[in-house]
Amino acid sequence: MSDRDATKVVSAGRRAEWTQGIVNPPVWRASTILYDSVADLRAAAGPDTHHRLFYGRRGTPTQWSLADALTELEPGAEATFLYPSGVAAIAAALLTVLSPGDELLCVDSAYDPTRSLANGLLGRMGIATRFYDPLIGAGIADLIGERTRAILLESPGSLTFEVQDIPAITAVASARGVTTLLDNTWATPLLFRAVEHGVDYSILACTKYVVGHSDVMLGSVTAAPGRFAALRDTSHQLGQVASPDDAWLGSRGLRTMAVRLAQHGASALQVARWLSTRAEVGEVLHPAFSSCPGHEIFARDFRGPSGLFAFALRGGREASRAAFIDALRLFGIGYSWGGYESLAIPVDPARHRSVTRPVFAGPLVRLQIGLEHPDDLIADLDQAFAAAHACGD
Ligand SMILES: *Cc1c(COP(=O)(O)O)cnc(C)c1O
Repeated sequence: MSDRDATKVVSAGRRAEWTQGIVNPPVWRASTILYDSVADLRAAAGPDTHHRLFYGRRGTPTQWSLADALTELEPGAEATFLYPSGVAAIAAALLTVLSPGDELLCVDSAYDPTRSLANGLLGRMGIATRFYDPLIGAGIADLIGERTRAILLESPGSLTFEVQDIPAITAVASARGVTTLLDNTWATPLLFRAVEHGVDYSILACTKYVVGHSDVMLGSVTAAPGRFAALRDTSHQLGQVASPDDAWLGSRGLRTMAVRLAQHGASALQVARWLSTRAEVGEVLHPAFSSCPGHEIFARDFRGPSGLFAFALRGGREASRAAFIDALRLFGIGYSWGGYESLAIPVDPARHRSVTRPVFAGPLVRLQIGLEHPDDLIADLDQAFAAAHACGD
């Protein structure tokens, strides 16, 4: 993260004509926009109503402000479209670039609902998906065929945290005329600059770090130059619109994202280092650890870590993993992440793979490290190990 990013998250998207002198861009709720005359109503129509009041589904300054802020945070980007969830953002981006008969190359470590979309709706539309090894790098060239239209990347990988060589993959893709889409939710543009690394569409589940408070569903796709019109048109046809209230909460969360991410990252590293000293722990799956596949790429391309990682309970069984997680007091048990509070869940990546099968020393636990004091989180994990031992493991 650079100081300029900390400044940008404070100022981005706060155009005077949208804020009207108020610090936070207010909530502009609308369906109907009233015109002065039939001539004005006709003049407002057209496919490109970007930053122009037309009809509520095309947004108001509340959504435009957040979308603009996300574009400003992604150097080299053209524009951003918002969605009511991260999955909606992934679906809209894929439907923008894929047509029946096309093939998608999807990283094998992708977020599970992304796999479901590829195997479900996309398959039904006659779009084939081939999954590929997250560590494939420039070797992706061998998989690109006549029908390959798009490559979906996610780095680090969901659940297992392998880091992809994104510049190598985007270089091959652009030379072959294949579009690249990256799920950049873990890093956000503050820790990984997608467009600068050659990505065509950078996708965020804003539900996580942008919102930051576990109370809103929101997604975004930020397009590289020349890529926005197609995204906008497909998203309009799909009827996609994020609510102004949710966009407002997203903007509110964004203002503190730089300081939150820095703290999440530092605390998670401290907890991960402590875990790596414990006899109960096998692998620690954290991109900042040299043992993590792709660590050298992480060190080269990322500006730092965020707060989500996993570890293996050495030799543990299903019951001992559940006993360990159940014994945690500060960590909540629940899906999602990126909020201010810590979370722990059991994860089983083997269920969501088709071409790679990483093997670990025991069952995995995924931790989202929140903004509590890391010493308190470590004490909580320590007592949970003791409680799990007392349960007979
Ligand atoms: C949570 C998540 C999503 C989906 O976001 P939602 O807002 O929950 O739909 C997409 N990608 C990753 C990596 C996620 O963790």
